[in-house]
Amino acid sequence: MIAENIKTGPRARLLEAASLAARIKDEVKAEVERMVAERGYRPCLAAVRVGDDPASAVYVRNKIRACEEVGIRSEHHALPESTGTSELLELISSLNTREDVDGILAQLPMPSGVDETVIIEAIDPSKDVDGFHPVSAGKLAMGRPVFVPCTPAGIIELLDDNGIELRGTNACVVGRSQIVGRPMAQLLLQRDATVTICHSRTRDLPAVTRNADLLVVAIGRTGFIRRDHIKSGATVIDVGMNKVSDPDEVRSLFGPDAEKRLEVVAKRGYTLVGDVNPAEAAEVAGMLTPVPGGVGLLTVAMLMKNTLKAANLRRR
Ligand code: NDP
Repeated sequence: MIAENIKTGPRARLLEAASLAARIKDEVKAEVERMVAERGYRPCLAAVRVGDDPASAVYVRNKIRACEEVGIRSEHHALPESTGTSELLELISSLNTREDVDGILAQLPMPSGVDETVIIEAIDPSKDVDGFHPVSAGKLAMGRPVFVPCTPAGIIELLDDNGIELRGTNACVVGRSQIVGRPMAQLLLQRDATVTICHSRTRDLPAVTRNADLLVVAIGRTGFIRRDHIKSGATVIDVGMNKVSDPDEVRSLFGPDAEKRLEVVAKRGYTLVGDVNPAEAAEVAGMLTPVPGGVGLLTVAMLMKNTLKAANLRRR
C-alpha cells in the first residue's frame, strides 16, 4: 500500500503561515490602537531571559520586535548566567505586582542554576501569556482554556484558516512536551478530533502515525518522520526547528529542492529543518507546513494575541 502511495501520492500543498501571521498581528495592532484611543491604556509584555544562550537571545529579540510592530509596550530583563532561582523569583514577584505589566514570559531554557518549574509556577496566572503555568494547563485540560501555549494555538489557527476539518478526524501528535505536544493534543480533543499521543516509548511508531489524517510532529529530531510514517493525503504539521549545516545531509533531506537550501547554508552556515523529512513528506502528504515559514511564524503572533487578551481580562 505504502509503495503505491509513493508512486501516486500527491505533491503536498505547502501550508505557508506568513500571511496568516501578518493578519493576526494586524488584528492585534488595530485592537491595541483602539485600547489606547478608548481606554488610554497600552498593554505591556515583560520578557525575562537568563544567561547567554544565543538562540534564546534571538527568540526574545523577535518577540520584542513583534511588540514594537503591534504597538505593545515591552521590557527586556536580561540577567547574567550566574542568576539563581531566588533572585529570579524576586524579579517575577515584582513584575506580578506591577499594575502596568500585563504579560510575563520567562524564556526557556534557563541555565542549570535556575529551577524552571519554580519560576513558571511563580508567574501570576493572569499574566501567564505563554500558557505554561499549571493553572493555564489545568484550564486547558478541563476544556476551559484562558491562555493556551502559543505554538499549538497558532497551529489551530493555521488549520482553521485553511479550512481543515478537525471534528471526527484521526489526529496524531508525536511529542508530549508541556509546551507543544500535550497542549496540542488537548486543543485537538476540544475540537472533537480522535487524538493519539506518541512519544519516545511508542511501539511501532509508523504503524500508529500512518492512521492519522492529521499528524503533528514536535520531537526535535531532524527529518525523523519519513514517508512510511505518513498516510497518503494526510495533513502534516512540522513543529521541529533543527539546524543542519552538512551539505550532504541537506541534499538527502531536500532532494530536488536542495539547491536553495545549500545557498542558505553557504550564507549562514546552516539551514533550518523540521522533524519531518521534507522531500519524502511532500510525495505522500496532502498538506505540509514548511520549515522555516510555517508554524514558527505563528508562535510570536499568538504571543501578541495572548498579551492583548491578558490586558483585556485584567482591565475589564
Ligand atoms: P521536547 O524535547 O520538550 O520534547 C520532545 C518530545 O518528543 C518528547 O515528548 C519525546 O518523548 C518525544 N520524542 C523524542 N524522540 C522521539 C522519537 N524518536 N519518537 C517519538 N517521540 C520522540 O521538545 P519540544 O516539544 O520543546 O520541541 C520539539 C521541537 O519543536 C523542537 O525541534 C523545537 O525546537 C521545536 N519547537 C518549535 C517551536 C516553534 O515555534 N516552531 C516552538 C517550540 C518548539 P519522551 O517524552 O518520551 O521523551
